[in-house]
Amino acid sequence: MVICNYCSKGAHLIMGKALYPHNPKLWQRKYWQCLPCKAWIECRSGSEEPLGRLADAFLRGMKHEAWTYFTRLIDRKIKGGAEFEAAMFSGKQWLAKTTGIPLDRCISHQWTLEECRKVIALCRPYCEERKWG
Ligand SMILES: [Zn+2]
Repeated sequence: MVICNYCSKGAHLIMGKALYPHNPKLWQRKYWQCLPCKAWIECRSGSEEPLGRLADAFLRGMKHEAWTYFTRLIDRKIKGGAEFEAAMFSGKQWLAKTTGIPLDRCISHQWTLEECRKVIALCRPYCEERKWG
């Protein structure tokens, strides 16, 4: 059973269609949702295993922002000639070393608000100043 990390009650398994009625690409994906908290998390593809912790609207926004800044740096590595896998791997190693987030949790689904803030604080200046890579 998946527990909501806001209210500590059990979450329910639902299909993406209920959450994203305007995005058919997500209709067949599974999610764990806590309705009262309006919090949810996607499942690993083809399974019912949650990819991370349930996230409310604010955390979902922060995860999106943090991941966007991080992947902008990865994109820059790729434009500089790196392979996607290599760029992502070295990027995550750098992120883990610099923020203290364990390497196996360097994926936005796993992040707490505090970790999102760390990632944003780390990556945003490089995005703005173009001094990374
Ligand atoms: Zn809840």
